[in-house]
Amino acid sequence: MIRVGIGYDSHRFAAGRPLVLGGVTIPHPLGLDGHSDADAVAHALTDALLGAAGAGDIGRHFPDTDPRWRDADSIGLLRQACALLRDRGATPLQADITVIAEQPKLARHAVLPSTSVAATIQDIERLLQALGDRTRLRLLNLIGDDEICVCFFVEALGESQPKISRHLASLRRAGLVTARRDGKWIHYRVAQPVDAVAAEVLNGLRTWMRRDPEMRRDRERLVAACCAPDAPVQLRLAPKPSRFVEAS
Ligand SMILES: [Zn+2]
Repeated sequence: MIRVGIGYDSHRFAAGRPLVLGGVTIPHPLGLDGHSDADAVAHALTDALLGAAGAGDIGRHFPDTDPRWRDADSIGLLRQACALLRDRGATPLQADITVIAEQPKLARHAVLPSTSVAATIQDIERLLQALGDRTRLRLLNLIGDDEICVCFFVEALGESQPKISRHLASLRRAGLVTARRDGKWIHYRVAQPVDAVAAEVLNGLRTWMRRDPEMRRDRERLVAACCAPDAPVQLRLAPKPSRFVEAS
């Protein structure tokens, strides 16, 4: 399903402020007044994305009364909105942005180059950081192509719930997994990164995981945790991953 959102934003010019549009600082005697960096392009796009996802508006998520967003880098807010979309299983496809301003002339400035939102070196760094940890790799391996409830990770990896949750949160921030809450259960699924390079890295890694003996043993432990008749009661109550539901 394709959903469309419309965003609009305006800021007054002010002296002594930088002019930031689409994450690009444009040399100009005047900047835009505002609580954050006043990047109207990033704000309008963020608002449109949140609207399309049915997730409210930018003011609700990043209120200008909150000191956390003072002089905030609005591309960072846009990223957070993108992460929220990912959590809801949504992917931004396209954005058309029109800037209306008497000055300066923008044509000669690369406002919002496509790389500034979709994939920056920080995205790749964050991806590699998230993948540079054994427990997180094991979690991705256990999820595979399925949707798995947290309690099974705890059982299969023999690690504490808080530790597993911390690693899952880190995978989520890197856009590698999405979470879905269903009553008291939280299910995780691997997300396909929007960026092509990131997707390639992840897919290569998952191919290796399918062959690695230790990762295989983890998967066997997961099967045992899901299907053992003498499993702890909370595991027997937990919703099983679909591949085991289909098999039984
Ligand atoms: Zn704004």
